[in-house]
Amino acid sequence: MRETSSPTTPGKASVRVGVFDGSTVGADGKVETSQFVNVKQAEIIEKAGGQSVGTSVVHEVLESYIGAIDAPGKKIVTGNNKALGDEFNAIHDKAKDLDPEFQEMDVKSGTTFTIILPESKKEVDLKLPTPTDTKKKTE
Ligand SMILES: [Zn+2]
Repeated sequence: MRETSSPTTPGKASVRVGVFDGSTVGADGKVETSQFVNVKQAEIIEKAGGQSVGTSVVHEVLESYIGAIDAPGKKIVTGNNKALGDEFNAIHDKAKDLDPEFQEMDVKSGTTFTIILPESKKEVDLKLPTPTDTKKKTE
């Protein structure tokens, strides 16, 4: 599991809190998964009244574990492939069902980083300022 402060993965998929990036199988049969968690985005959700940072992280860990069992050796997100996307959604749903604290958040239509909290319906912008934006504000 890697923590990322960037809203995109190296493969350019947008990351909202976390993303399962699939796994590889070594010559010894050992499955190694790749999972991203953006803790700063998880904090934004918690401060806005959504699920806790711990719940967000637990979800990503469960997703990685289930992904290793259900889809060993498949790189899921960065491929932008519909069949693999469906496989990822099934893994996400299994992880969701295992944790009663997890809250499914919808992405506001027409946006990439604005999510809607399920209970309050509050809209939360998860897009983080780039280092350049931060610099402009302090000058
Ligand atoms: Zn998920």
